Amino acid sequence: MSSAVRAVIVHAPHDLRVEDFALSAPGPGEVEVRIERGGICGSDLHYYHDGGFGTVRIKAPMVLGHEIAGTVSAVGEGVSRVAVGQRVAVNPSNACGRCSYCERGLQAHCLDMRFFGSAMRFPHVNGGFRERLVCTEAQAVPVREGVGADVAVFAEPLAVVLHAAARAGSLAAKRVLVTGCGPIGALAIIVARHFGAREIVATDVAARTLGIARSIGADETLNVGADAAALDPFKADKGRFDVAFECSGHKSGVADAIATVRPRGTIVQVGIGGAEMPIPINAVVAKEIDLKGTFRFYEEFEQAVDLLGSGRIDVSPLHSATIPVERAKEAFDLASDKSQSMKVQLAF
Ligand SMILES: [Zn+2]
Ligand SMILES: [Zn+2]
Repeated sequence: MSSAVRAVIVHAPHDLRVEDFALSAPGPGEVEVRIERGGICGSDLHYYHDGGFGTVRIKAPMVLGHEIAGTVSAVGEGVSRVAVGQRVAVNPSNACGRCSYCERGLQAHCLDMRFFGSAMRFPHVNGGFRERLVCTEAQAVPVREGVGADVAVFAEPLAVVLHAAARAGSLAAKRVLVTGCGPIGALAIIVARHFGAREIVATDVAARTLGIARSIGADETLNVGADAAALDPFKADKGRFDVAFECSGHKSGVADAIATVRPRGTIVQVGIGGAEMPIPINAVVAKEIDLKGTFRFYEEFEQAVDLLGSGRIDVSPLHSATIPVERAKEAFDLASDKSQSMKVQLAF
């Protein structure tokens, strides 16, 4: 049995269409989810504006979206974790479980990863911006009773940040810098606060964004666009911060982090920039800075769902607008305007 559902499909840069997309019934071990909310992410915007990023390019039309939550609408044979009517956050990450990285517990580096809404492999893996989708039972993560899809849909970006925090090590009593306060930087502030950071300083170039950063727990916010010297006091004595989350992907953010992290401090590079990024490498050497990459997440997805369900963090200040899926183009344009929005959600 197969039918069609409405889906947000990118055909080429600035060619985004809401069209019918085939849906087949869930097979053994699979779950059909009626999607309620989809969060528009930076990577979705890269596909929309540029047709991709770095070497990742759209070679065929692809359904976008990897931040998705909804309610189970059908289950295949043998499914026991969820039943029809259960609200779930859908984990977009589906590792093979058999390759050398999966065997070592490094599923984020799976050699055969199928990640929703990603053009990294071809044929592309279609994403979750569609009325219904079929995923594996393991990908449908139950959310606590009473947690809305508008909250559950934050599980994916929160998982990204929980993984970045795991790369940083303990944040308790640490002085933390966050450069770039889009949705990921904002979640880094929330997570650093949650894990007991002693001081959180956040930078951005947009006043509105910095206002949100303050409201969610940054002790100090600095507009490095308006005042390039704003971080100078933090460079004294070889640097003040124990940990920096570089979330801007901009060379000035990287340079700021290197200049203000203390010797033997840690920088977690979360933002992705262009193919080539100038790095003041001598300071990394002389200050013995631990400069670490972070990529997606694995077990952190379930932790993120738990944390959102616990009510111990509040992500609602990041949610700027909800727009019906038929107006997806408008939603993508709004999400692209950082002066007006943080996280824009599609409603299905
Ligand atoms: Zn995302
Ligand atoms: Zn694998």
